Amino acid sequence: MALRLYDSLRRDVRPLTASQADGVFRFYNCGPTVYAPAHIGNFRTFVVNDLIRRLADRQFGPGRVKHVRNLTDVDDKTIRRAREERRPLADVTRQWTEKFHRDCAALNCLPPHVEPTATGHIPEQIDMIAALERRAHAYRTEDGSVYFKVSSFNDYGSLSRLKERELKLGSALKATTADSDEKEDGSDFALWKGHKPDDGDVFWPSPWGPGRPGWHIECSAMSKKHLGDTIDLHTGGVDLLFPHHENEIAQSQCCNQQPFSLHWYHSEHLLVDGKKMSKSLGNLYTLDDLTAKGFSPVAVRYALLSGHPRKQLNFTLESVHAAEKALGHLRAYAASLPATGGDPATLAPVIAALEDDLNTPAALGALFTVVNRGTHGVDAAGFAEVMGLLGFDLRTTPTAAPEAPAAVRALADQRWAAKAARDFARADALRAEIAQAGWTMLDRKDGFSLEPNKR
Ligand code: AMP
Ligand code: ZN
Repeated sequence: MALRLYDSLRRDVRPLTASQADGVFRFYNCGPTVYAPAHIGNFRTFVVNDLIRRLADRQFGPGRVKHVRNLTDVDDKTIRRAREERRPLADVTRQWTEKFHRDCAALNCLPPHVEPTATGHIPEQIDMIAALERRAHAYRTEDGSVYFKVSSFNDYGSLSRLKERELKLGSALKATTADSDEKEDGSDFALWKGHKPDDGDVFWPSPWGPGRPGWHIECSAMSKKHLGDTIDLHTGGVDLLFPHHENEIAQSQCCNQQPFSLHWYHSEHLLVDGKKMSKSLGNLYTLDDLTAKGFSPVAVRYALLSGHPRKQLNFTLESVHAAEKALGHLRAYAASLPATGGDPATLAPVIAALEDDLNTPAALGALFTVVNRGTHGVDAAGFAEVMGLLGFDLRTTPTAAPEAPAAVRALADQRWAAKAARDFARADALRAEIAQAGWTMLDRKDGFSLEPNKR
């Protein structure tokens, strides 16, 4: 069997192939913007990409996969954060890059082979913009910016099917109009942003004067530099499909005169109460929020993989509880296995489900069918291989949930009593006092528990 993945451009499930003569599979995954901790919604995308990486390693062999994942370390958000904190931009982005690496390691995500940064590739981005200008795909504006001329690229919109949604076109394109009033057309997007006072000391010299790159050009430039003009797979969360990936295709193909990515894959969002988990909605959990509640990172990974990656997944604490329990079963099972003597066919359905467009729910279902049947036909090495593909490190165990101090527990008892006596004013006052002390009281029908405040 070979790994088959849905392709957002051709809209069908297709095998992944290494297209070039050297047999190296070229894989680019859009990485995080480093100005705050990544939330577990972001990590759903990175864990799914880690699964692709592990399956690709298995298929193409060691040294035959080149995985590039960038760091966006200059944009409006990173600059705003540095200004608010009165710190140099590089300080802020270094802090959050290090945090991102720690979280990735805790979630057992393999590091990419190359992790390029936008600020580390300014000359490459400038070269690309200059090439686009020479080919009349870009134009300058009075304020020292450069824009991509969308009407100069016939294929624009093929990934997001913009042209087929003509009625919605106007509103969809408005999403990109925030750049400037100086654009010739609302759908054009910034390749280079002329320096503005808000950018402070964040600027680089360029043929168009001081400024900084637009967001989209970094991925086109870094993918060209590290993987070449044509790559085998490009991935990201669905929100990147338009405009980010549409713009990457336009930039790369107009500059290189070659097809850009041969396969596009987008994973769906993690939701909370039906809404996308996002920094702007403030409905997010970080990995630290969950480990503070006593969950192990491997259970978070399990929970993030429990839904089909191309379907939205509603996040609940119960799902991490359930994951912790499932991992407990897997640990006990692993410990009971003989070292050798297994039949590889026994666990093959698990791998087949993963290779079938990352059908993780089916894979976990097949896994537990085998586990529940007993150890017959499975040995430790075969089981470890499957755990390795899923990235479940069974050696890690949950940390004990932190216990609230006695004074907080006493307040909680008083509040429980006040509630029972229907003295809600007093119960609310006590809840506020408990929150002040850094704890949240979670009520159930038959009792309560105390958890550290999320913030
Ligand atoms: P950002 O740091 O905002 O550039 O996002 C990094 C990655 O996380 C991108 O691939 C996004 O598509 C993805 N992402 C953002 N929010 C979510 C979410 N709620 N669920 C899954 N992926 C997400
Ligand atoms: Zn990107």
